[in-house]
Amino acid sequence: MNLIILQTEDFIGPGLARLTGRRLEHLRDVLRATPGKCCKVGLLNGRRGCGELLRCSAEAAELAVTLNSPPPAPPACKLVIALPRPQTLKKVLHAGITIGVKEFHFIHCFKVEKSYWSSPRLQPEALSDEILAALEQSGDTLTPAIAFHRSFKPFVEDALPAILAGTTALVAHPYTDNRCPGGLEGPVSLVLGPEGGFTDYEVDRLTAAGCRPVRLGARILRTEVALPVLLGRLGVF
Ligand code: SAH
Repeated sequence: MNLIILQTEDFIGPGLARLTGRRLEHLRDVLRATPGKCCKVGLLNGRRGCGELLRCSAEAAELAVTLNSPPPAPPACKLVIALPRPQTLKKVLHAGITIGVKEFHFIHCFKVEKSYWSSPRLQPEALSDEILAALEQSGDTLTPAIAFHRSFKPFVEDALPAILAGTTALVAHPYTDNRCPGGLEGPVSLVLGPEGGFTDYEVDRLTAAGCRPVRLGARILRTEVALPVLLGRLGVF
């Protein structure tokens, strides 16, 4: 936890926040904060600043909060990802959110197992936990938008054009001759495939919608590894 995220319900008075549970434990056991110490805090979807520890008991900590700096500017990058298995979804979200991505679209395609769509990890509370953990890690406060699209064709035909508009659109595909470009200027949309890869039909549809297939090196990477490598190569981070 590199930033303690505060929510409006934590405030018990103007500039006065009361923390319990996980954040109390972090203050006490990891930061070993004593009264007077300034801890890095940020208001969810708001500014960052200092939380000066006033008191700390076994039940709660109280912080005098000053919020005076904006969160880091988000990169202009949208991600479209074939819905991965639940434990990979967690890793992919963590990687994407800590890199700063603010728009995720998880999509169905032929090699996405139908059972993945009923995972509890897709529930709003589980997603909120992942979002908070990644924001705390990266020192960010801005929550990303996460959308789920359960049908490939309507997504590609009806939703994708608006997502790609004004961006350099790429589909990561190990079986193309085009090497992924480096250090792009301007907004990027990146599409990643499922564990079993996109079918030729799907690559054709994505290409017709405006995505250029690109590959990394000769090795096939897992989605959660391919994602940060691609974003690093593209200059998104
Ligand atoms: N089993 C599939 C690989 C899927 S890897 C196959 O053999 O085709 C999951 C996704 O990660 C891919 O669909 C692609 O979007 C991305 N990826 C993995 N390695 C890559 C590489 N070397 N170049 C480009 N994209 C890659």
